[in-house]
Amino acid sequence: MTHPAQPKASHFVNGAYVEDTAGTPIPVIYAATGEEIARVYAATPAIVEQALASAQAAQKIWARMTGTERGRVLRRAADIMRERNHDLSVLETYDTGKPLQETLVADATSGADALEYFGGLAASLTGEHIPLGEDWVYTIREPLGLCVGIGAWNYPTQIACWKGAPALACGNSMVFKPSETTPLCALKVAEILHEAGAPAGLYNVIQGMGEVGGALVTDPRVDKVSLTGSVPTGKKVYAAAAAGMKHVTMELGGKSPMLVFDDADIESAISGAINGNFYSSGQVCSNGTRVFVQKGIKEKFLTRLAERTATAKLGDPMDESVNFGPMVTENQMNIVLGYIETGKAEGARLICGGARAEMDGYYVQPTVFADVTDDMTIAREEIFGPVMCVLDFDTEAEAIARANDTEFGLSAGVFTKDFTRAHRVIGQLEAGSCFINSYNDAPVEAPFGGVKASGVGRENSKEALKHFSQVKSVYVRMGDCEAAF
Ligand code: NDP
Repeated sequence: MTHPAQPKASHFVNGAYVEDTAGTPIPVIYAATGEEIARVYAATPAIVEQALASAQAAQKIWARMTGTERGRVLRRAADIMRERNHDLSVLETYDTGKPLQETLVADATSGADALEYFGGLAASLTGEHIPLGEDWVYTIREPLGLCVGIGAWNYPTQIACWKGAPALACGNSMVFKPSETTPLCALKVAEILHEAGAPAGLYNVIQGMGEVGGALVTDPRVDKVSLTGSVPTGKKVYAAAAAGMKHVTMELGGKSPMLVFDDADIESAISGAINGNFYSSGQVCSNGTRVFVQKGIKEKFLTRLAERTATAKLGDPMDESVNFGPMVTENQMNIVLGYIETGKAEGARLICGGARAEMDGYYVQPTVFADVTDDMTIAREEIFGPVMCVLDFDTEAEAIARANDTEFGLSAGVFTKDFTRAHRVIGQLEAGSCFINSYNDAPVEAPFGGVKASGVGRENSKEALKHFSQVKSVYVRMGDCEAAF
């Protein structure tokens, strides 16, 4: 019998599911069991062509509609996503292995928030009137045209919506390529947008590995590329886009710091550290994986952290009481286990976890290392798994300097009861998305993105609209036009 996760076909192009089994097969493995639950095929050049051609044609129709009409389609799509949240969450769990307890509240729901928010803003995209004596200039905010979205595997529904919603609100079309690891959820986003009234071809989803992504990024019809992925992939995609002078948004990796001062509420800071390291089993780009704890509270912090981490419930992700799932793939599990061994070998003190969990599926125990030093591999490289590094510090100035000593700059957090210090410290941290006495909140209303190697551009909020539109400036002369000869 076909598994319920198996999609009708591999791609959603020009308003319909389409199949081409000549493409490379991509098995979908359920991370909690290791079973193959579905199979899709990478897009062949013929599918890539259909996707680009239909998106280019649909964009012309879509851009002629009013912002109010476009917004209505997005808001209808948001309503459909919310009505189907349970089924979409189950699919997200099959695609990624993340516990249903999380997917019910963090995936289709945040995708729906993006569709609703940008649907609401679509009608308010206007230009300016700039008076110049008798003459004047007016500006028109125009769409870029055809946009490509390329997603990572950790939030397949959310990424498809975070890119698609602002792109469509501005009058663009999109061809979205999910990660080959999690190909299922974006198809549902395309199906729902179509059902909500988006013209056929406006939002296409095609499968494939880096090769398909590469074909999209280099196509001359494409005006913009928005990638969520690792820094090495980001560098490649950015370079390829630059060759065609295309706009880019890059949402890349991180090794973000969380600073816990002596005066912090310890239980609250530990909650922040748990959310910022163990949610989605640590597979979150903005995670605060370097937890700097001031020396006065270090041992108390570690004792309570170990006690609370021991209560994490690993198990069947479909059981709603389970709050800690497997790594997305066997390969990712092995990468994480490799980093854990490196941490032990480099002399970090293992507080808890430190091994694969004894059960089926790709589970790694939530792991905490203490006495981590700045030069250790586990403190420098993005692990993308449930491995928290606790480092200790004496002074505020020292903590800030060490927090900033990284190529990354995605997120940063501060836990303290002294609000003057909180704002002073946050002001000096080199990161795009920051938190005070909290960690990893990502409401659609707030800009999200990184500085330094962590990215270019911002997703969510009104900022995202700037990255999916361009301004035309029109000078209007009211008198005669004069020339020197
Ligand atoms: P990758 O960088 O491996 O891949 C990202 C996407 O790019 C995938 O769809 C991949 O396809 C595609 N791709 C790979 N090579 C190319 C290429 N040459 N041209 C075009 N597309 C290409 O990231 P992962 O999927 O492994 O995701 C994990 C990474 O993503 C982590 O480093 C994490 O920090 C980052 N991330 C960043 C976020 C942010 O918002 N800042 C959010 C979530 C994750 P395929 O996988 O099919 O090869």
